[in-house]
Amino acid sequence: MEIHLYNTLSRQIERFEPIEAGRVRMYSCGPTVYNHVHIGNLRAFLCADLLQRVLRVIGGYHVQWVMNITDIDDKTIRDSQPGSPAWNAEAMGPQTDDPQENLRRLTRYYEQVFLRDIEAIGIRRDDFFAMPRATDYIPAMMELIRLIWQNGYAYVAGGSVYFDLSRWIEQQHPYGVLFTVDLERFIAGARIDADQYERDEVSDFVLWKARKEGEPWWVLELGGQLLPGRPGWHIECSAMGHELLGLPFDIHTGGVDLRFPHHEDEIAQSAAGYGCITARYWVHNEFLEVEGEKMSKSLGNFYTLSDLIERGLDPLDVRYAILSAHYQSVYNFTFEGVAAARRARRRVQEYIYQLFEHSGRQACDVEALEHAVFGHLADNLHTPKALAALFTFLGEHPAATLEKNSQRALVDFFERLNRIIGVWQIGERPPVVIPERIRQLAEERWRARLQRDFARADALRQQIAAEGYIVRDRTDGYDIVPHEE
Ligand code: AMP
Ligand code: ZN
Repeated sequence: MEIHLYNTLSRQIERFEPIEAGRVRMYSCGPTVYNHVHIGNLRAFLCADLLQRVLRVIGGYHVQWVMNITDIDDKTIRDSQPGSPAWNAEAMGPQTDDPQENLRRLTRYYEQVFLRDIEAIGIRRDDFFAMPRATDYIPAMMELIRLIWQNGYAYVAGGSVYFDLSRWIEQQHPYGVLFTVDLERFIAGARIDADQYERDEVSDFVLWKARKEGEPWWVLELGGQLLPGRPGWHIECSAMGHELLGLPFDIHTGGVDLRFPHHEDEIAQSAAGYGCITARYWVHNEFLEVEGEKMSKSLGNFYTLSDLIERGLDPLDVRYAILSAHYQSVYNFTFEGVAAARRARRRVQEYIYQLFEHSGRQACDVEALEHAVFGHLADNLHTPKALAALFTFLGEHPAATLEKNSQRALVDFFERLNRIIGVWQIGERPPVVIPERIRQLAEERWRARLQRDFARADALRQQIAAEGYIVRDRTDGYDIVPHEE
């Protein structure tokens, strides 16, 4: 089936065609590992995961997916300094005198936390072709900076190296291809050192930052000059994408905030250094907000996955909730939303179990269902329409009324769909194991009932319910079943 994607470069939905038949090379901007990632970041990774799974399962492509780990930038350096509140001495050990070692300790710790988080929300490690750490690619970054400089688009000032945007624009090279920037306001020669800046701050941006006391540093050799310092953030992705996938690759992903300056600068640097476009398709996910507001530390609505797990949420319900929304619309995260997602997810799970239990005489058109559901997913990852088509079908075709062949075809369909959505068990209902303690309480309750001690029987029933089980009486005994919310 053909896949269509909204390409930020052309601002329209295009048919996807890989550069090389059968193979897709895709790069996703990964986490900055200076702290726990938040659920907004997780949305960006889930959208990329959805895309790569659709490319594999529906497109039939061999996908090479790279997601970098930003382990050096302004924030990681800030938070690896002595006295940083992000420093967790128990997990990272004490601070040392070596800034590079401190950076390594901080970022390796949060990298592990990140890997656990993405595993919990169903992103599979095996699906990655590589997860490069920026600090392992510093020589490649230096090489790119030298190329940009040799081509005349970089200059040294105050020990730092900057991208010469005036020259780039003067020579009619495009800038502002993903995100409209106001070049009228561009001030020739104005320079910016920060990794992140606003659209009205378009200026020469930093490729290599001069060494500061107490910060990690490497030595860049540039035309005979030795420049101690460290890479700017944008050059990292340019160099890693080039090293691991080669340019141009097929798809570059990230959140909408990365269109400018990060991706715009990445495109300019790679064109100026490697003389090549970066990627054919740029796919950007919209933001996740919490209860209708932008997430921020001051509003206290800044959730990490561990926060949600502590509140009793199942990470796979969070996965399903986030994936249910179209990636190009703002997703409003609410606890009711996750509860609704949990019910929807369970409804499908129950249907799958029932396919293995009883059959009837009705036939159904599984091919048409698959065509509809996969068709919507292939159409710019339209999960809301795909799930709506699925639920309409489930409503019209109760599992137990279907004859065996239809049931078998549906199991195959769910197996394929689950390779994309990734939140269900495909197979028979697992036997319910009732803990011994609950069995004993139920036994005691049964005896109390026989002795007509109904107050005690009721109290025991409530105790059992509080632990998540329900006792259902029959005339000759009782059943214990797990409590369904
Ligand atoms: P960072 O670690 O800040 O570079 O962000 C990692 C990824 O998360 C990037 O692709 C960002 O665009 C994305 N991102 C950051 N905040 C949000 C948010 N609230 N909703 C969705 N994506 C986000
Ligand atoms: Zn990036």
